[in-house]
Amino acid sequence: MGSGSRNMAPSAEGASLRRLPSVDRIAQAAAAYVEMPPALLVSAARAEIATARDGIARGSAAPSLDTLAEAAALRAALLVRDAPRRVINATGVIIHTNLGRAPLSDRALAAVHDAAAGYAALEMDLESGRRGGRGAAVTASLREITGAPAAIVLNNNAGATFLALEALAAGGEVLVSRGEAIEIGGGFRVPDILAASGAVLRDVGTTNRTRIEDYAGAISDRTAAILHVHRSNFAQIGFTESPDLAALAHLAHEHAVPLIGDLGSGTLLDPTPFGLVNEPRVQDALAAGCDVVTFSGDKLLGGPQAGIAAGNAACVERIARRPLARALRCDALTLAALQATLAHYLLGEAETSVPVWQMIAARPDALRARARRLARGVGDAGVEASESAVGGGSLPGQVLPSFAVRIAGGGQSLAARLRRADPPVIARVRDDDVWLDVRTVLPRDERPLRRALLDLPR
Ligand SMILES: *Cc1c(COP(=O)(O)O)cnc(C)c1O
Repeated sequence: MGSGSRNMAPSAEGASLRRLPSVDRIAQAAAAYVEMPPALLVSAARAEIATARDGIARGSAAPSLDTLAEAAALRAALLVRDAPRRVINATGVIIHTNLGRAPLSDRALAAVHDAAAGYAALEMDLESGRRGGRGAAVTASLREITGAPAAIVLNNNAGATFLALEALAAGGEVLVSRGEAIEIGGGFRVPDILAASGAVLRDVGTTNRTRIEDYAGAISDRTAAILHVHRSNFAQIGFTESPDLAALAHLAHEHAVPLIGDLGSGTLLDPTPFGLVNEPRVQDALAAGCDVVTFSGDKLLGGPQAGIAAGNAACVERIARRPLARALRCDALTLAALQATLAHYLLGEAETSVPVWQMIAARPDALRARARRLARGVGDAGVEASESAVGGGSLPGQVLPSFAVRIAGGGQSLAARLRRADPPVIARVRDDDVWLDVRTVLPRDERPLRRALLDLPR
């Protein structure tokens, strides 16, 4: 052990190892720093000794009892810290997958709190007192907003799409345009999901151009469904073509097979008034004739992580009856948050109340004013025009003009320092400058963000 050390002779290394205090002494000393069950401090002390031994083998000196005790106390405290930690998103990416995608509205937060604080009528009809369907209220809201006759809420869109394929197409062929046999990220690859569902992928057309005749030529009595996948996270430009959903639906129904549309972000609002290009709304895909559409709850819908399958009653019923529907179902907290988010749409207040849409709708002049307020009195900070993105595999390549606080020359070390603030601040580093785009900074985050900036060393 450690005999290969270059910096310290084996005998010196042995002496250092012997100088290390015992686990119990470290644990006892750590108790002066934090109040923790002894077993946790002992476990942390063991880990610190192991780290110290590694250090000694690499030539470091033995740390003091105090150093070890403090490190063990910190290690034990970290173990019980709330996680994932709330962070301030100053990246300008609105639906940031690594930061938990969509933040919830105040109404949705309150609904989660209420549903979690006690019991909730998750599967009880309060009128009759009898057992009721899980998610009945959410389903009613979804029907009202989208026009779908039926809907089911599952754990995420990968699950919803998988289950739709398994329920409607297992054992048969599913026609997919070559331009839509895509990978979304995080391991969602259309060919793999299809294979796992028990359906057989039948490629149609070419990568850049697929026409309705290509589908018509591929359809046969083995065909179980046509799948349309929204190219969420990339854009094709130039010589491209794909048939519209209405034409695909017409073809599918002529052959008595369902058209399944994986819409990805599944927006319920039209993003064009905000300077973004068109993204198919759930309502439009259903009106065009999709039998089932699947979409996420936490992308452009702006709610909690969930996957929704909405469409005609017979198809949704088949999905709901699959054994895996139980495995992929979501909990009361998710349903509460989703229902509260959908209420904003029903009340016609989504763009003023759903955080994702508030951020998309924020005007550049208001953002500039916020950036100026944040930067005032902060050392090397200036206000610059920047570009935000919707993110989360939605509206690829499209940016929203924004404003940022730019701290010149801070680099990765300043970004790391901001990540150690409380709450941690996530910024972008470009050309060694730190950029804090205010579009994604929630109003309630402004004060702690300003404190973190003022605390930076000059
Ligand atoms: C994001 C996305 C998925 C995966 O959705 P999750 O909610 O992350 O499971 C599937 N399909 C498309 C087209 C997507 O954009």
